[in-house]
Amino acid sequence: MFLRFLFFFIRYAIAGLIFISVVLFAPSLQASPSYNGEACRSKHAIGVSRILEIDTSTGPRYGRVQFKNHPLPLKHKEVVITFDDGPLPTVTKSILRTLKRHCTKATFFAVGKMAKAFPDLIQKVAREGHTVGAHTHSHPRDLRHHYFPYSRFQIERGFQDVQAAVGKPIAPFFRFPGLHDYEQMNKYLSDRHIANFSVDIVPGDTNGFSPARIIRNTLSQLRRRGKGILLLHDIKPATAAALPRLLSALKARGYKIVHIVPKKPFEPVPIALMNMLYEDFSHKDPKTIIGGLTYRQLYGTKPTKRLNRRVKKRWRKPKNKRYSKRVYRRKRRY
Ligand SMILES: [Zn+2]
Repeated sequence: MFLRFLFFFIRYAIAGLIFISVVLFAPSLQASPSYNGEACRSKHAIGVSRILEIDTSTGPRYGRVQFKNHPLPLKHKEVVITFDDGPLPTVTKSILRTLKRHCTKATFFAVGKMAKAFPDLIQKVAREGHTVGAHTHSHPRDLRHHYFPYSRFQIERGFQDVQAAVGKPIAPFFRFPGLHDYEQMNKYLSDRHIANFSVDIVPGDTNGFSPARIIRNTLSQLRRRGKGILLLHDIKPATAAALPRLLSALKARGYKIVHIVPKKPFEPVPIALMNMLYEDFSHKDPKTIIGGLTYRQLYGTKPTKRLNRRVKKRWRKPKNKRYSKRVYRRKRRY
């Protein structure tokens, strides 16, 4: 009789304990930001506050720097993180690790040639749930200096290369190299149902700034504007070095990360049209003059794996004063 009572008691005690633990811990599990549907391990992770679906059927334009009256519909203290110019092994890998640790998502505007050179890396970016858009085929510094067919080719080929490297449909999201747009191209992007992304917050990580200065610039601009699209570059070691502290600082100041995703994926142009666009610029002789420029000037050079070797693994403060001055004085580039 006593034994029976003991079993009865133990059974209810265990059930009670389970109930109490569920009641106590469930809210904390729910509150932690999620990453790929799994609960995020770290309490200090910034996570993703919401997903913003972008309907690209009207070819929208977003961002203060190029399109003043077309802000992205963000609430106060909401930030969209974007990375341009990659992927580049050492830097992009480090950035992906940081984003994973913070259980957050970003948008990568990849350069076609870079994606083609490092397909595994851009596949990893897509696999980890980040949005992948395009940033032209070979990143001409200023498309306004080129004539329309060349710009059109750069855009279409860029999307095609990135999509081929990823191996599945990408987002119809585009950003102009150096944010140099012109109306004919903007109209073309609208007609192609591509969202034209500019930026709101420019910390200037391409100017050779230190990680501390990148963080300071981001925070001060966010304090003034309150929200916006943040422009970073996943080819700069200083950016990768700044990102962990930057995300922690954003979290500490109550900023929230919004992940932008397309309503419909990018639709490539038919192969026949793509070939036609390509033939205009597929002359073998680099000295061939097209529209007043040599083929080499128009088409650029091939990216090589050497590009990656030139970048140091970790950012270090330059010891030489003259070097740092030269870097800081360099022209502002995006
Ligand atoms: Zn760029």
